[in-house]
Amino acid sequence: MTSTQDAKAPAGEVVLEAIGLTKHFPVRRTLRGLFSQQQNAVHAVDDVHLTLRRGQVVALVGESGSGKSTMARLLAQLYPRTGGDIRLHGKTTHVRPGRQFRTYAARVQMIFQDPFASLNPVHTIRYHLTRALKIHHHAGSTAEDLESALHDLLGRVSLTPPERYLDKFPHELSGGQRQRVAIARSLAAEPEALLADEPVSMLDVSIRLGVLNLLRDLKERLNLAILYITHDIASARYFADETMVMYAGRMVEGGDSETVTQSPAHPYTRLLIDSAPDPDRLTGVGGSVEDQGTGEPPSLIHPPAGCRFHPRCPMAMARCTTDLPEKIEIGDAPGHWAACWLFDEATVAAETPGSAAVKGASV
Ligand code: SF4
Repeated sequence: MTSTQDAKAPAGEVVLEAIGLTKHFPVRRTLRGLFSQQQNAVHAVDDVHLTLRRGQVVALVGESGSGKSTMARLLAQLYPRTGGDIRLHGKTTHVRPGRQFRTYAARVQMIFQDPFASLNPVHTIRYHLTRALKIHHHAGSTAEDLESALHDLLGRVSLTPPERYLDKFPHELSGGQRQRVAIARSLAAEPEALLADEPVSMLDVSIRLGVLNLLRDLKERLNLAILYITHDIASARYFADETMVMYAGRMVEGGDSETVTQSPAHPYTRLLIDSAPDPDRLTGVGGSVEDQGTGEPPSLIHPPAGCRFHPRCPMAMARCTTDLPEKIEIGDAPGHWAACWLFDEATVAAETPGSAAVKGASV
């Protein structure tokens, strides 16, 4: 198995883009709702823009219910979108089940949070990997070809010697080894992009770093574009080139990981960082944002008007309750932006002089 196609492609080349991606899940009508004209919907993802490039990791950070896992499933085409566009190498993609989906999945693979649930417990590792190789036509034409491809896959995820793992069942492996098998199965497709949905959050703290290092190594060796979904902003700093912060279905901040994690601009990002007090720790067990005493995420059936964070925001101004904040360049580093009125000079100037919000703008 080779990755000639991947190795030749220039690093930084755009692989996958979300443009104004939107997903609303219709809510089943209650008896009273049957007489209402209005069909409610969960606004899980609204107008999200995101770009994945070869040889780079983008971290998508947010608390539970922020819409980040829905984003991964939309990009994997496991859910149909309500609006917006998904482009693979600049071309709009609408994938139907069947052969079209398999062709797309060969280029864009997903890694799930729970490796135990994603591997069938009654089948061996050999079965899982052989099946993936055959589906994607990388099993070769002879038994030797297949054996060599299996060894290559396990070698890529550092499960060596391969003979020790091939005929084991998932329950005979540790959590970290299972996740490595799940990653190897994704690699069997020779993808260009990996969508990793909380890939280490169910693993023991002591082995998380090893799996993240493996993904980083694969990114470099195979020139992969990786979306890393996490609630742990400390690990985003360690692992990702770029970090995007999502709140209640909308992107609120983005930029290079060092800037976003060391000089966060949006009040929600600051709150996330405060809830993970040790940035060098990769535990993901810091206090939750709710623990910081700023309330809970809003209902996504009736999201707040204006800035969705305003009911929890200690810096909220009058305009925040009515107008959706635009994406504003911060200016401290190239590409660093926040969707927050605090960075709009005209808005801050219009607010009452001396208010907490106005003072906060200069933080
Ligand atoms: Fe807070 Fe207003 Fe900024 Fe939203 S726009 S984060 S409410 S200051």
